[in-house]
Amino acid sequence: MRQLIAGNWKMNGLGQAAFAEIEALRAGLAADPPHADVLVCPPATLIARAHWAAKGAFPLGGQDCHAQASGAFTGDVSAEMLKDAGATWVIVGHSERRQYHHESDADVAAKARAAWRAGLTAIVCIGETERERMDGHTLDVVSRQLGASVPDGATPQNTVIAYEPIWAIGTGKTPTSAEIAEVHAHIRKIVGAGTRILYGGSVKPSNAKEILGLADVDGALVGGASLKAQDFLALIAAAAERS
Ligand code: PEP
Repeated sequence: MRQLIAGNWKMNGLGQAAFAEIEALRAGLAADPPHADVLVCPPATLIARAHWAAKGAFPLGGQDCHAQASGAFTGDVSAEMLKDAGATWVIVGHSERRQYHHESDADVAAKARAAWRAGLTAIVCIGETERERMDGHTLDVVSRQLGASVPDGATPQNTVIAYEPIWAIGTGKTPTSAEIAEVHAHIRKIVGAGTRILYGGSVKPSNAKEILGLADVDGALVGGASLKAQDFLALIAAAAERS
């Protein structure tokens, strides 16, 4: 299947500078059409403007959504609101949400269902802590999170899995290729052949080719290296050519 390179801008990006990055990304992709599908998940405040600036060259996604469609949830954004702003995707269960907002697997599953209700594709994030890896529990943790964070009804069309070892996010540390391949093969056995499995955690232009060349790696979820269009374009260019 075609790989997906998804950028997660996290809480970064303001007005004109963000607009310029979206424009540069659109121009770069037009000049050198990629082998992979591309997605940008900016902060919710930028989705409408980014959607307009992307001019259909790539879709936009949210970074989180509330499980309810509307209501008295001050500060929250629903999947329907993301859709209304121009998003067609949303990340749910990112480790920063699980850590800083105490989101449980059940919360993540409710958010994935909310995404589907609004017609968005959910990117469900899973991954182990450094302690869990050192103790040899990685595959158990990933199995448990998949079972509890991905609701019944997931299909290759409405759900993508992102395997993101927590200790690799934003740290510059990555698992070895053999370690990534082992976890992806394990996830593949659980989710089946059609579902995309992204790797995330310190992917950058210098290591993208090796990681994206691994079996069962169907793309990447990219934080820091997605903020500058030139870095993100270099990383997109490293995607494996798969049909
Ligand atoms: C992420 O935020 O999902 C991520 C993988 O971040 P980084 O690429 O910066 O490690």
